[in-house]
Amino acid sequence: MAENRAYDWIDKSLATIEKAGWHRQVKQINDRPGAVIELEGQSLINFASNDYLGLAGDERLIRAATEAIQQYGTGTTGSRLLSGHRQLHQNLESAIAQLKQTEDALVFSSGYLANIGTITALVGTRDLILADQYNHSSLKNGATIAGATIINYNHCDLEHLEENLQAYRSSYRRCLIVTDTVFSMDGDICPLPKILDLAESYEAMVLVDEAHGTGVMGKRGAGCVEYYGCSDRALIQMGTLSKALGSLGGYIAGSAKLIDFLRNRAPSWIYTTGLSPADTAAALEAIHIIHKEPERRQQLWESIINLKQNLAHLPLLPSESPILCLKLNNPQQAVQLSADLQNNGIYVPAIRPPTVPFSRLRISLMATHQPQHLQKLLEVINSEFFS
Ligand SMILES: *Cc1c(COP(=O)(O)O)cnc(C)c1O
Repeated sequence: MAENRAYDWIDKSLATIEKAGWHRQVKQINDRPGAVIELEGQSLINFASNDYLGLAGDERLIRAATEAIQQYGTGTTGSRLLSGHRQLHQNLESAIAQLKQTEDALVFSSGYLANIGTITALVGTRDLILADQYNHSSLKNGATIAGATIINYNHCDLEHLEENLQAYRSSYRRCLIVTDTVFSMDGDICPLPKILDLAESYEAMVLVDEAHGTGVMGKRGAGCVEYYGCSDRALIQMGTLSKALGSLGGYIAGSAKLIDFLRNRAPSWIYTTGLSPADTAAALEAIHIIHKEPERRQQLWESIINLKQNLAHLPLLPSESPILCLKLNNPQQAVQLSADLQNNGIYVPAIRPPTVPFSRLRISLMATHQPQHLQKLLEVINSEFFS
């Protein structure tokens, strides 16, 4: 066979990634998710999970998923519009709408697909997207696929957002402002009420990504929109079933007309298989638990406040969430510190460019962390930072 050199560039590309200290690999976890995990044979206190309420390994979710498989089988066999729709989907969408206090909701196969499908349905080449520079990859890629003009405004900078609205809004048909509510790699939150005010003044739509807000923020755990008292304002709320809800999938919550429109125009909902019965049932059970057990959220917030106070002497990034980041000088330092913590029984991942502009350790808290878990974390961090 003739030699084909078309793939040789991959070697060079990998070498460049390695040289920059950016190379990443998977790590295997062999037991159920929880505050303590077994990672590559070592027992570690887990500060790397998005399972904020500790539900991904909960017996009740496991039972709900198992029963759903018994009743409906493992796969939904088709698009929701053809053979893939079940009563379970309906129940989950009603539960999401009720939690978010919206007219309706629509579940996607992942949060990533919810963002891509929704943004591409809402805007096109004649339209403008104004996006926070720190937005999640799924919002950025959704914007690119939509073909709209994209302008990134400085992180949470309302003046910069308004300057752009003033300068460019009138040149476009529709305008969509997109932002994370809780920023996933920083832990701070967007100034939502003022963003909504600007959106009203300039006739712009707003899409908020509540991936890290749902189940965590707000009195009932509905998210940042609830936390800010903005549930009755016009906006589009996206979120995921994969973080505090302990399952897999994503959703959009909003007006009945918006949801009806998305069922007809969101390609990543129309042309993909309906969410599996197990994932759907697990997420539905998680929403019941969020209503029934507010003490989980209270426990989480006690830990957040406690840890924030005890990390105040270190270079902690501003945070209003379970995500607490320690700023570091370079990727090598981040990787070294993360490895040192791991040798001492603590799992805190290093987050490096290109994911973020500068390297950091990213600690994420769960409702199921015990006081002794936090104490151990502080002991080890203090000894490593000052060694
Ligand atoms: C995790 C995440 C997503 C994607 O959600 P998945 O359900 O994991 O695909 C989208 N947006 C943000 C901000 C996230 O952190």
